[in-house]
Amino acid sequence: MHNPVASGLRPARFRCLRGRRCRWLAAGGPRDLLMVKDTIERIYCSEIMAVSPETAMGDAITLMRNNSISCIVVANDKKPVGILTERDIVRSISAFGLSFMDLPIGESHSKTVQTVHKDSFVFEAFQALAENNVRHLVVVDDVGDAVGVVTQSDLLNHLGYEYFIKVKTVDQVMNRQVYVIGMNTTLFEATKKMAEMKVSFLVICDESAKPVGVLTERDMTRLAADKHMDWNCLATEVMSSPVHTTHPGKSVYAAAEMMREKNIRRLVVVNDEGDVTGVMTQTDMIHGLESRYIDSLKTIIQEQGRELDSMVNRLSEKTLYLDSILHSSIDMGIIATDADMTIVYYNSAAEEILGVPASDALGKSIAEIHAVEHVSQERIAKAMRNVNEKQFHTFHFSRQRGCGVLHLQARLSSIQGQHNGERIGYVVTVQDITEQQQAEDTIRRLAFYDMLTGLPNRVLFYERLYSEIARARRQQSRFGLMIMDIDLFKKINDTYGHHAGDNTLKEVGQRLDSLLRKTDTAARLGGDEFAFILPDVGNNESMLRIARNILHCLAAPFAIGEHSLHVQFSIGIAMFPEHGCDSEALYICSDEAMYRAKEMGRRNGRSNVVMAD
Ligand code: GH3
Ligand code: MG
Repeated sequence: MHNPVASGLRPARFRCLRGRRCRWLAAGGPRDLLMVKDTIERIYCSEIMAVSPETAMGDAITLMRNNSISCIVVANDKKPVGILTERDIVRSISAFGLSFMDLPIGESHSKTVQTVHKDSFVFEAFQALAENNVRHLVVVDDVGDAVGVVTQSDLLNHLGYEYFIKVKTVDQVMNRQVYVIGMNTTLFEATKKMAEMKVSFLVICDESAKPVGVLTERDMTRLAADKHMDWNCLATEVMSSPVHTTHPGKSVYAAAEMMREKNIRRLVVVNDEGDVTGVMTQTDMIHGLESRYIDSLKTIIQEQGRELDSMVNRLSEKTLYLDSILHSSIDMGIIATDADMTIVYYNSAAEEILGVPASDALGKSIAEIHAVEHVSQERIAKAMRNVNEKQFHTFHFSRQRGCGVLHLQARLSSIQGQHNGERIGYVVTVQDITEQQQAEDTIRRLAFYDMLTGLPNRVLFYERLYSEIARARRQQSRFGLMIMDIDLFKKINDTYGHHAGDNTLKEVGQRLDSLLRKTDTAARLGGDEFAFILPDVGNNESMLRIARNILHCLAAPFAIGEHSLHVQFSIGIAMFPEHGCDSEALYICSDEAMYRAKEMGRRNGRSNVVMAD
């Protein structure tokens, strides 16, 4: 059987008898007329009239009368111990006469009180009324305190039009057993009969069996409140008249509407000739409902229970899958915390990456871990700000593992609750990005460094030259550019082989590296050509001095296999800004100077330095 709610049928709304709005399902099957999962919360009257067991019956009856209510709850310190209904009053008059009025209510009222929990379903209340054959239920809370009363009228008024369409006509629910009294019956005799028969009213008929009035429990309560009432008077003198009647073929809906409008609990059913054929009371309507309404509701609740069970099963299966996915995700550490940042989940990858076993991490607060790792408060505050604004925060950190360093990337995000978006926790995912970092480093090295000497290459040289020019312009400072070339390098290659040439270039690189300041740049531009950027050099003389230092350092012989070689160099110098204001001009100037040094070298057989003119 499918669940009509789950299958998405649109709920229709109908006006209820009392004008309240109830939720109904659209038409289509036997359960269409049912309110699914409605509880009595919206129905019961929470303004209860309660008295203590010591209260005199007369006072209780006056209270009922003045407040136009059909029952009064007897309570001991909010706990219901009984209920006084109109039926009890009729029974007491019949048993004790009017002398019962001074008796404490605790001695004469109905001791059995039917209670129903305030969260009960409507169908449960219907069931309690039908099974116990009562018209009132006292509503109690979790601790058993009386918090309200729900009556037959309340429940019936909660039913919508649908029910009456299904039930159709009065003769389907009416009671054919009618208690009739003649016009000569006294009020006291009538009371006795009502008590004996346990009926809520009697119909008074004339000689031709036509109804002339009714005498109800409510009338009895009204009369009992009048201390001067003569109970030996004729029932006809105090009966309610005229009699409200309906026809067996009338719709139950119309009959119920009439009862609601007249604020009565029964109608006398008369045939075309006006003869009494039955009565239709609220109790009859409840009994008419009982089998169909309650059984169908039960089925729905059971179905919903089964659906809930299967949902729980599906959920726990999903949890299992999820758990094993998280556990088997070998390369991503996953840590989940509650809203207070206490770790509640920690997978095995997290153990591996962070070097902390789950047994140590679970139950600890993230703040505690931060304190141990000396993470600054500002860093944590920034992370929280990002999480609040963007829902996540990414950060990097590294940790020592063995003799290597692990580079880690973490992402912190918040877990929002499903209903009102409140934060219910956080998830931190941690990934080891050491390999990725190393690959990026290699790419960077290949792009910007010379593989043979390890010195910056032409690309990085120009990057640095541009930024040095920009800096010098900003600060109105000077700097020097040197171009250095090996004299007759081809000869080394030719004589000792390419490999020997490579080793010479490498050795040049090493010597330069150890010679220069951190702020200086020594680069290999290609072949046997090197370049130097030397920031903040005071005057040309100091630049020449640095160049001579370089040449001095390179003057020491180079070991090539078993050979020891003297290598000759030529250096040209250009100064910013006097020899050139941009990179191109500076390069050309220093290159020209270098060629002049080379010419000198050819003549003097030594390494030479020349400053541009
Ligand atoms: P000069 O005095 O005019 O500079 O003459 P040179 O022989 O040094 O010739 P030049 O500077 O014009 O050319 C440099 C030579 O260096 C060219 C090439 O054969 C050689 N060379 C270039 N790159 C490499 C390298 O990576 N390794 C080796 N071993 N030799 C290289
Ligand atoms: Mg050369």
